[in-house]
Amino acid sequence: MKDAQGEGYLLARDDLFDWTDTLLRDFAVQGPVLKKKGQTVFERIDDPSSLQLDYCSTMLAPRNFIYPQRQEFLHIQRSSGQTRVVTPAPAARNILFAIHPCDMHAITVLDRIFSRDSWDFSYNKARHETITVVLNCAKACDQGFCSSMGTGPFLKIKDGYDVEITPVDRAYVMEFGSRRGRDLIRKAANLRRITGADLSQKKRVEKKAEASFTKFLDTKGLPELLARTLNHSVYKVTADTRCLNCTNCTMVCPTCYCYNTEDLTRFDLKQVERKRHWDSCQELNFARVHGGNFRSSREARLRQFVTHKLCTWVEQYGCVGCIGCGRCMTWCPTGIDLTEMAKEIQRDWSPAEKR
Ligand code: SF4
Ligand code: SF4
Repeated sequence: MKDAQGEGYLLARDDLFDWTDTLLRDFAVQGPVLKKKGQTVFERIDDPSSLQLDYCSTMLAPRNFIYPQRQEFLHIQRSSGQTRVVTPAPAARNILFAIHPCDMHAITVLDRIFSRDSWDFSYNKARHETITVVLNCAKACDQGFCSSMGTGPFLKIKDGYDVEITPVDRAYVMEFGSRRGRDLIRKAANLRRITGADLSQKKRVEKKAEASFTKFLDTKGLPELLARTLNHSVYKVTADTRCLNCTNCTMVCPTCYCYNTEDLTRFDLKQVERKRHWDSCQELNFARVHGGNFRSSREARLRQFVTHKLCTWVEQYGCVGCIGCGRCMTWCPTGIDLTEMAKEIQRDWSPAEKR
């Protein structure tokens, strides 16, 4: 988004922390913080110096602040003959600070899921009240392949975010994707308008980041290929020899959206709480319905994960469900890697079929 006078601003590196300090006065800022054992996690900060801006990836994606792992989303109370329905409000005026482009992309994927066919009140309220500040990546993560998926290392989407920050030499290029993003940037002191030279520098950083990738996935024709190779042996062999059904892959995946709900009713029937928590297609009972379980084998569950992310998601939501963050393979205890499974199927794809 452009304003009347140009496209963005330049902020000196040292001034970024003062800007963040200013934001802390009005917002709950959730940013990347380095914890013991070298892990970076997103959590609420009260001191800008605790931010770890050159982090690689986090175990849990920042989606947690919009679509929490557990949440109460309906509360019904009866007293004096009256029934009151309360929908708990999420913490207002949140800023997701320094999230990576792939994770921003994942949030826009969740937008499609929770806003198109059915409107999810809790998700959309939290999403609306959360300002997103994206930090472009200067280098690839170890297991990341976002450049193959068109979701990184720099922001590729045109809307759905508020602020885009790019580290350049001793400064940050600050651009905005919404009016509230522009207003947020303008809270910084010592801003100056960006020039063509600043944008050229940004381009150089992007090229260098693109060149740092070591992991790739050729997505051309992949959804169609996976759709007609559902019985490929890679699913059975991998599932039977390595998959523990631990559900880690789905818990860390930033686009996984399945949940289960439970109603907790007090014995006196005066209070009901409806809660939801993330669920997983890798869990045996996930597909148990009246009359049986339609994914009772590990093979079927693993195939569901891989083909949903890289194939059937396209038909369902008009985009792929994988943003190439590399979390599922990083946190899989046996290192199961959906890109390797896809590549094995691609290798077995006969040359005749390729033509
Ligand atoms: S499938 Fe794996 S690599 Fe793709 S978005 Fe999910 S966690 Fe990231
Ligand atoms: S994280 Fe790995 S072992 Fe666990 S359910 Fe997923 S694929 Fe299976």
